[in-house]
Amino acid sequence: MADANVLDPKNPSGPVQVRKLKVRVDRDLCIGAATCIAIAPNMFALDSDAKAIILSTSDQDSDDAIIDAAKGCPVAAVIIEDEQGNKVFPK
Ligand code: SF4
Repeated sequence: MADANVLDPKNPSGPVQVRKLKVRVDRDLCIGAATCIAIAPNMFALDSDAKAIILSTSDQDSDDAIIDAAKGCPVAAVIIEDEQGNKVFPK
C-alpha cells in the first residue's frame, strides 16, 4: 500500500504496541478529523481513505501525547489499553 511508513503494514490502523500502550483506531468510527494528528504527529497520519493510521515513528510521541490524542478524538475512535488489557481510553 502507499502508506509505507506505518508501524504494522498488515494492520495500518493497529492494534500496535507502543511501550506499555496497545493502540488501535476504529476505522469505522474515524471521520478523518485529524485532531489525533495535531496532538501526536509522530504516531498518527491519514491514509488515502481519510482514516487514521499508526506510523513507525510512534515511539517518538510520549504516552501522555498518545492518550491526549485519544481523548481529543471527537468520535473516540482511538482505543488504548494497558498491558493487562484494561481500557486506558475510552473508559
Ligand atoms: S481524531 Fe479521531 S476521527 Fe480524527 S483522524 Fe484521529 S482517529 Fe480519526
